[in-house]
Amino acid sequence: MRITAIRAHAVDLFLAEGSYSWNTQSFPSFDSTIVEIQTDEGLTGYGEICPLGPGYMPSFAEGARAGMEVLARALIGLDPTKPNVAAAAMDTALKGHPYAKSGLDLAIWDLAGKAAGVPVSTLLGGAFRDQVRLFRVISRDAPAAMVERLLEARERGFIQYQMKVGTGVAEDLARMHAIADVLQPNEVLAADANTAWSRAEAMQIAAAVSELPLAIEQPCLRYDECLALRPHLARPLILDEVMDSRDAIRQGAADGAMDIINLKISRFGGLGGAMRTRDLCLDLGITMTIEDTWGGEIATAAIAHLAAATPDYAHFQSSAFHDYHTNPIATGGPVVADGHMSVPDGPGLGITPIPDLLREPILEVR
Ligand SMILES: [Mg+2]
Repeated sequence: MRITAIRAHAVDLFLAEGSYSWNTQSFPSFDSTIVEIQTDEGLTGYGEICPLGPGYMPSFAEGARAGMEVLARALIGLDPTKPNVAAAAMDTALKGHPYAKSGLDLAIWDLAGKAAGVPVSTLLGGAFRDQVRLFRVISRDAPAAMVERLLEARERGFIQYQMKVGTGVAEDLARMHAIADVLQPNEVLAADANTAWSRAEAMQIAAAVSELPLAIEQPCLRYDECLALRPHLARPLILDEVMDSRDAIRQGAADGAMDIINLKISRFGGLGGAMRTRDLCLDLGITMTIEDTWGGEIATAAIAHLAAATPDYAHFQSSAFHDYHTNPIATGGPVVADGHMSVPDGPGLGITPIPDLLREPILEVR
Protein backbone atom coordinates (compact mmCIF):
# COMPACT_ATOMS: atom_id res chain seq x y z
CA MET A 1 0.00 0.00 0.00
CA ARG A 2 1.26 3.48 -0.86
CA ILE A 3 0.32 6.99 0.28
CA THR A 4 -1.00 8.93 -2.74
CA ALA A 5 -2.47 12.15 -1.31
CA ILE A 6 -2.42 14.11 1.94
CA ARG A 7 -4.90 16.86 2.83
CA ALA A 8 -5.36 19.12 5.82
CA HIS A 9 -8.67 20.69 6.90
CA ALA A 10 -9.02 23.49 9.47
CA VAL A 11 -11.85 23.50 12.00
CA ASP A 12 -12.56 25.68 15.03
CA LEU A 13 -13.59 23.82 18.17
CA PHE A 14 -15.98 25.95 20.24
CA LEU A 15 -16.20 25.54 24.00
CA ALA A 16 -19.59 24.71 25.50
CA GLU A 17 -18.71 26.69 28.65
CA GLY A 18 -17.94 29.75 26.47
CA SER A 19 -14.20 29.73 27.14
CA TYR A 20 -11.32 27.68 28.49
CA SER A 21 -8.98 29.46 30.91
CA TRP A 22 -5.65 28.47 32.45
CA ASN A 23 -2.61 30.35 33.74
CA THR A 24 -3.41 33.89 32.47
CA GLN A 25 -4.73 32.67 29.08
CA SER A 26 -8.34 32.27 27.94
CA PHE A 27 -9.82 31.20 24.58
CA PRO A 28 -13.40 30.77 23.27
CA SER A 29 -12.29 28.18 20.67
CA PHE A 30 -9.26 26.27 19.45
CA ASP A 31 -7.98 25.98 15.87
CA SER A 32 -7.70 22.28 15.02
CA THR A 33 -6.41 20.54 11.89
CA ILE A 34 -7.88 17.31 10.56
CA VAL A 35 -5.37 15.31 8.50
CA GLU A 36 -6.59 13.03 5.70
CA ILE A 37 -4.25 10.51 4.04
CA GLN A 38 -5.35 8.59 0.94
CA THR A 39 -3.76 5.43 -0.44
CA ASP A 40 -3.61 3.57 -3.74
CA GLU A 41 -5.75 0.77 -2.24
CA GLY A 42 -8.71 3.01 -1.47
CA LEU A 43 -8.17 3.18 2.30
CA THR A 44 -8.21 6.63 3.93
CA GLY A 45 -6.69 7.46 7.32
CA TYR A 46 -7.48 10.42 9.59
CA GLY A 47 -5.50 12.26 12.23
CA GLU A 48 -5.77 15.51 14.14
CA ILE A 49 -3.51 18.10 15.74
CA CYS A 50 -4.80 20.92 17.92
CA PRO A 51 -2.36 23.09 19.91
CA LEU A 52 -3.90 24.80 22.95
CA GLY A 53 -3.68 28.19 21.27
CA PRO A 54 -0.32 29.69 20.29
CA GLY A 55 0.78 30.58 23.82
CA TYR A 56 0.70 27.23 25.64
CA MET A 57 3.58 25.18 24.21
CA PRO A 58 6.01 26.09 21.41
CA SER A 59 3.34 25.03 18.91
CA PHE A 60 0.58 26.78 16.96
CA ALA A 61 -2.03 25.76 14.39
CA GLU A 62 -0.50 27.63 11.45
CA GLY A 63 2.91 26.19 12.34
CA ALA A 64 1.52 22.67 12.38
CA ARG A 65 0.11 23.20 8.90
CA ALA A 66 3.32 24.76 7.54
CA GLY A 67 5.29 21.80 8.92
CA MET A 68 2.78 19.37 7.45
CA GLU A 69 3.39 20.70 3.96
CA VAL A 70 7.10 19.86 4.23
CA LEU A 71 6.40 16.49 5.86
CA ALA A 72 3.66 15.45 3.44
CA ARG A 73 6.08 15.60 0.51
CA ALA A 74 8.33 13.11 2.35
CA LEU A 75 5.42 10.73 3.01
CA ILE A 76 3.99 10.45 -0.51
CA GLY A 77 4.76 6.96 -1.87
CA LEU A 78 5.53 5.41 1.55
CA ASP A 79 3.72 2.38 2.97
CA PRO A 80 1.38 3.54 5.79
CA THR A 81 1.27 0.05 7.33
CA LYS A 82 4.80 0.80 8.62
CA PRO A 83 4.31 3.74 11.05
CA ASN A 84 7.89 3.64 12.37
CA VAL A 85 9.29 3.86 8.83
CA ALA A 86 7.03 6.83 8.11
CA ALA A 87 8.06 8.48 11.39
CA ALA A 88 11.73 8.06 10.49
CA ALA A 89 11.08 9.67 7.10
CA MET A 90 9.40 12.61 8.85
CA ASP A 91 12.34 12.99 11.25
CA THR A 92 14.73 13.05 8.27
CA ALA A 93 12.62 15.62 6.40
CA LEU A 94 12.12 18.03 9.33
CA LYS A 95 14.16 18.27 12.51
CA GLY A 96 12.08 18.69 15.65
CA HIS A 97 8.54 20.16 15.41
CA PRO A 98 6.94 17.01 16.89
CA TYR A 99 3.47 18.61 16.94
CA ALA A 100 3.60 19.15 13.16
CA LYS A 101 4.24 15.41 12.75
CA SER A 102 1.56 14.26 15.18
CA GLY A 103 -1.57 14.64 13.01
CA LEU A 104 0.12 12.84 10.14
CA ASP A 105 1.37 10.10 12.47
CA LEU A 106 -2.15 9.55 13.83
CA ALA A 107 -3.54 9.21 10.30
CA ILE A 108 -0.81 6.66 9.48
CA TRP A 109 -1.63 4.57 12.59
CA ASP A 110 -5.30 4.82 11.60
CA LEU A 111 -4.40 3.40 8.17
CA ALA A 112 -2.17 0.69 9.69
CA GLY A 113 -5.07 -0.41 11.90
CA LYS A 114 -7.55 -0.35 9.05
CA ALA A 115 -5.19 -2.37 6.82
CA ALA A 116 -4.74 -4.98 9.58
CA GLY A 117 -8.45 -4.91 10.50
CA VAL A 118 -7.69 -4.16 14.17
CA PRO A 119 -8.10 -1.18 16.51
CA VAL A 120 -5.02 1.01 17.03
CA SER A 121 -4.91 -0.13 20.68
CA THR A 122 -4.04 -3.62 19.39
CA LEU A 123 -1.11 -2.22 17.41
CA LEU A 124 0.03 -0.37 20.55
CA GLY A 125 0.40 -3.67 22.42
CA GLY A 126 -3.22 -4.50 23.19
CA ALA A 127 -5.99 -2.98 25.30
CA PHE A 128 -6.03 -3.81 29.01
CA ARG A 129 -9.63 -2.55 29.25
CA ASP A 130 -12.39 -1.00 27.15
CA GLN A 131 -13.01 2.04 29.40
CA VAL A 132 -10.52 4.80 30.18
CA ARG A 133 -10.58 6.82 33.42
CA LEU A 134 -11.11 10.54 32.81
CA PHE A 135 -10.61 13.76 34.70
CA ARG A 136 -12.68 16.86 34.22
CA VAL A 137 -10.93 20.22 33.89
CA ILE A 138 -12.36 22.94 36.10
CA SER A 139 -11.43 25.99 34.03
CA ARG A 140 -9.94 28.94 35.93
CA ASP A 141 -12.69 31.24 37.22
CA ALA A 142 -13.95 32.77 40.47
CA PRO A 143 -13.95 30.19 43.30
CA ALA A 144 -17.76 29.88 43.50
CA ALA A 145 -18.05 29.35 39.73
CA MET A 146 -15.36 26.67 39.89
CA VAL A 147 -17.20 24.88 42.69
CA GLU A 148 -20.35 24.97 40.57
CA ARG A 149 -18.46 23.37 37.65
CA LEU A 150 -17.14 20.64 39.91
CA LEU A 151 -20.62 19.84 41.21
CA GLU A 152 -21.90 19.61 37.62
CA ALA A 153 -19.06 17.25 36.71
CA ARG A 154 -19.72 15.13 39.81
CA GLU A 155 -23.38 14.94 38.79
CA ARG A 156 -22.19 13.40 35.49
CA GLY A 157 -20.15 10.76 37.29
CA PHE A 158 -16.68 12.31 37.37
CA ILE A 159 -14.56 11.75 40.48
CA GLN A 160 -11.22 13.12 39.17
CA TYR A 161 -10.71 16.83 38.57
CA GLN A 162 -7.98 19.18 37.46
CA MET A 163 -8.58 22.75 38.59
CA LYS A 164 -6.82 25.52 36.69
CA VAL A 165 -5.01 28.17 38.73
CA GLY A 166 -2.27 30.68 38.00
CA THR A 167 -3.27 34.29 38.72
CA GLY A 168 -1.36 34.77 41.97
CA VAL A 169 -1.08 33.45 45.52
CA ALA A 170 -4.20 35.00 47.10
CA GLU A 171 -6.60 34.21 44.26
CA ASP A 172 -5.23 30.72 43.71
CA LEU A 173 -5.37 29.80 47.40
CA ALA A 174 -8.99 30.98 47.53
CA ARG A 175 -9.76 28.72 44.56
CA MET A 176 -7.93 25.73 46.03
CA HIS A 177 -9.59 26.05 49.45
CA ALA A 178 -13.06 26.46 47.89
CA ILE A 179 -12.67 23.33 45.78
CA ALA A 180 -10.98 21.31 48.54
CA ASP A 181 -13.88 22.16 50.86
CA VAL A 182 -16.41 20.34 48.65
CA LEU A 183 -14.15 17.44 47.66
CA GLN A 184 -15.34 14.00 48.77
CA PRO A 185 -13.00 11.30 50.15
CA ASN A 186 -13.25 9.16 47.00
CA GLU A 187 -12.39 12.07 44.69
CA VAL A 188 -9.03 13.03 43.20
CA LEU A 189 -7.88 16.61 42.61
CA ALA A 190 -4.90 18.30 41.00
CA ALA A 191 -4.28 22.05 40.92
CA ASP A 192 -2.57 22.88 37.64
CA ALA A 193 -0.69 26.19 37.52
CA ASN A 194 0.52 25.59 33.96
CA THR A 195 3.92 27.22 34.76
CA ALA A 196 2.32 30.40 36.20
CA TRP A 197 3.95 30.64 39.63
CA SER A 198 7.31 32.17 40.41
CA ARG A 199 9.50 30.10 42.71
CA ALA A 200 8.59 32.41 45.61
CA GLU A 201 4.85 32.12 44.91
CA ALA A 202 5.11 28.34 44.62
CA MET A 203 6.91 28.16 48.00
CA GLN A 204 4.14 30.19 49.65
CA ILE A 205 1.44 28.03 48.12
CA ALA A 206 3.26 24.78 48.94
CA ALA A 207 3.31 25.77 52.62
CA ALA A 208 -0.35 26.81 52.59
CA VAL A 209 -1.77 23.68 50.91
CA SER A 210 0.17 21.00 52.78
CA GLU A 211 -3.06 19.79 54.43
CA LEU A 212 -5.28 19.97 51.32
CA PRO A 213 -6.11 16.73 49.47
CA LEU A 214 -4.64 17.70 46.11
CA ALA A 215 -1.67 17.21 43.82
CA ILE A 216 0.20 20.17 42.33
CA GLU A 217 0.80 20.22 38.57
CA GLN A 218 3.55 22.18 36.78
CA PRO A 219 3.89 24.99 39.35
CA CYS A 220 6.75 26.91 37.66
CA LEU A 221 8.06 27.50 34.16
CA ARG A 222 11.46 25.87 34.50
CA TYR A 223 12.44 22.36 35.52
CA ASP A 224 15.00 23.55 38.10
CA GLU A 225 12.37 25.75 39.76
CA CYS A 226 10.00 22.77 40.07
CA LEU A 227 12.84 20.59 41.35
CA ALA A 228 13.76 23.16 44.01
CA LEU A 229 10.14 23.20 45.19
CA ARG A 230 9.94 19.43 45.49
CA PRO A 231 11.42 19.00 49.04
CA HIS A 232 9.03 21.67 50.34
CA LEU A 233 5.90 20.08 48.90
CA ALA A 234 3.94 17.63 51.02
CA ARG A 235 1.64 16.76 48.09
CA PRO A 236 2.27 14.71 44.92
CA LEU A 237 3.91 16.65 42.10
CA ILE A 238 2.87 16.24 38.48
CA LEU A 239 5.13 17.63 35.75
CA ASP A 240 3.67 18.46 32.35
CA GLU A 241 5.09 21.30 30.23
CA VAL A 242 8.75 20.54 31.09
CA MET A 243 8.37 16.82 30.33
CA ASP A 244 8.79 17.51 26.63
CA SER A 245 11.30 14.78 25.74
CA ARG A 246 12.31 11.31 26.89
CA ASP A 247 15.61 12.82 28.05
CA ALA A 248 13.65 15.19 30.31
CA ILE A 249 11.72 12.24 31.75
CA ARG A 250 14.92 10.25 32.37
CA GLN A 251 16.44 13.28 34.13
CA GLY A 252 13.27 13.84 36.16
CA ALA A 253 13.22 10.19 37.25
CA ALA A 254 16.91 10.32 38.21
CA ASP A 255 16.32 13.49 40.26
CA GLY A 256 13.12 12.16 41.87
CA ALA A 257 11.53 15.33 40.52
CA MET A 258 7.94 14.08 40.08
CA ASP A 259 5.43 11.36 40.90
CA ILE A 260 3.38 11.65 37.72
CA ILE A 261 3.98 13.09 34.27
CA ASN A 262 1.48 14.38 31.78
CA LEU A 263 2.15 12.56 28.50
CA LYS A 264 0.76 14.58 25.62
CA ILE A 265 0.77 12.64 22.35
CA SER A 266 1.66 15.54 20.03
CA ARG A 267 4.64 16.50 22.21
CA PHE A 268 6.21 13.20 21.10
CA GLY A 269 5.37 13.42 17.39
CA GLY A 270 2.28 11.19 17.56
CA LEU A 271 1.37 7.69 18.73
CA GLY A 272 4.69 6.01 17.88
CA GLY A 273 6.73 8.44 19.98
CA ALA A 274 4.07 8.48 22.70
CA MET A 275 4.17 4.65 22.87
CA ARG A 276 7.95 4.71 23.39
CA THR A 277 7.46 7.36 26.08
CA ARG A 278 4.77 5.27 27.78
CA ASP A 279 7.15 2.27 27.84
CA LEU A 280 9.95 4.42 29.28
CA CYS A 281 7.60 5.59 32.06
CA LEU A 282 6.61 1.98 32.77
CA ASP A 283 10.30 1.08 33.15
CA LEU A 284 10.95 4.08 35.41
CA GLY A 285 7.85 3.52 37.57
CA ILE A 286 6.30 6.86 36.64
CA THR A 287 2.51 7.16 36.53
CA MET A 288 0.98 8.96 33.53
CA THR A 289 -1.83 11.28 32.67
CA ILE A 290 -2.28 10.38 28.99
CA GLU A 291 -3.76 13.06 26.77
CA ASP A 292 -2.83 15.67 24.17
CA THR A 293 -2.66 19.46 23.98
CA TRP A 294 -6.28 19.61 22.75
CA GLY A 295 -8.46 18.25 19.92
CA GLY A 296 -11.82 16.80 18.98
CA GLU A 297 -13.05 13.23 18.54
CA ILE A 298 -10.04 12.16 16.46
CA ALA A 299 -7.29 13.24 18.86
CA THR A 300 -9.40 11.91 21.74
CA ALA A 301 -9.76 8.51 20.04
CA ALA A 302 -5.96 8.32 19.82
CA ILE A 303 -5.74 9.11 23.55
CA ALA A 304 -8.29 6.38 24.32
CA HIS A 305 -6.32 3.77 22.35
CA LEU A 306 -2.99 4.63 24.00
CA ALA A 307 -4.48 4.87 27.50
CA ALA A 308 -6.31 1.55 27.08
CA ALA A 309 -3.03 -0.06 26.02
CA THR A 310 -1.33 1.15 29.22
CA PRO A 311 -1.53 -0.94 32.42
CA ASP A 312 -4.03 0.41 34.92
CA TYR A 313 -1.47 0.84 37.71
CA ALA A 314 0.53 3.32 35.59
CA HIS A 315 -2.44 5.25 34.17
CA PHE A 316 -3.59 8.17 36.32
CA GLN A 317 -6.23 9.74 34.07
CA SER A 318 -7.01 11.01 30.56
CA SER A 319 -8.95 13.76 28.78
CA ALA A 320 -11.97 13.49 26.47
CA PHE A 321 -11.63 16.82 24.68
CA HIS A 322 -14.72 16.51 22.50
CA ASP A 323 -16.77 16.42 25.72
CA TYR A 324 -15.99 20.16 26.12
CA HIS A 325 -17.17 21.24 22.64
CA THR A 326 -20.36 22.36 20.97
CA ASN A 327 -19.37 21.06 17.51
CA PRO A 328 -18.44 17.42 16.82
CA ILE A 329 -15.88 16.75 14.07
CA ALA A 330 -16.30 12.97 13.74
CA THR A 331 -18.64 10.09 14.53
CA GLY A 332 -17.51 6.97 16.38
CA GLY A 333 -15.47 8.88 18.99
CA PRO A 334 -15.17 7.72 22.60
CA VAL A 335 -18.47 7.77 24.52
CA VAL A 336 -18.19 9.63 27.83
CA ALA A 337 -20.17 8.25 30.78
CA ASP A 338 -19.59 7.87 34.53
CA GLY A 339 -16.20 9.55 34.47
CA HIS A 340 -14.86 7.21 31.80
CA MET A 341 -14.65 7.09 28.01
CA SER A 342 -15.07 4.06 25.79
CA VAL A 343 -12.32 2.92 23.44
CA PRO A 344 -13.56 2.82 19.83
CA ASP A 345 -13.54 -0.84 18.72
CA GLY A 346 -13.59 -0.40 14.94
CA PRO A 347 -10.45 -0.81 12.82
CA GLY A 348 -7.83 1.94 13.14
CA LEU A 349 -8.83 4.85 15.37
CA GLY A 350 -12.48 3.85 14.82
CA ILE A 351 -13.72 7.32 13.90
CA THR A 352 -15.22 8.86 10.75
CA PRO A 353 -14.89 12.63 10.18
CA ILE A 354 -18.05 14.56 9.39
CA PRO A 355 -17.98 14.83 5.54
CA ASP A 356 -18.86 18.55 5.47
CA LEU A 357 -15.61 19.36 7.26
CA LEU A 358 -13.55 17.73 4.50
CA ARG A 359 -14.95 19.76 1.58
CA GLU A 360 -12.36 22.53 1.34
CA PRO A 361 -8.83 21.39 2.18
CA ILE A 362 -6.41 24.16 3.14
CA LEU A 363 -3.49 21.99 2.12
CA GLU A 364 -3.18 19.23 -0.47
CA VAL A 365 -0.05 17.30 -1.50
CA ARG A 366 -0.16 14.54 -4.13
MG1 LIG B 1 -1.13 20.27 32.81
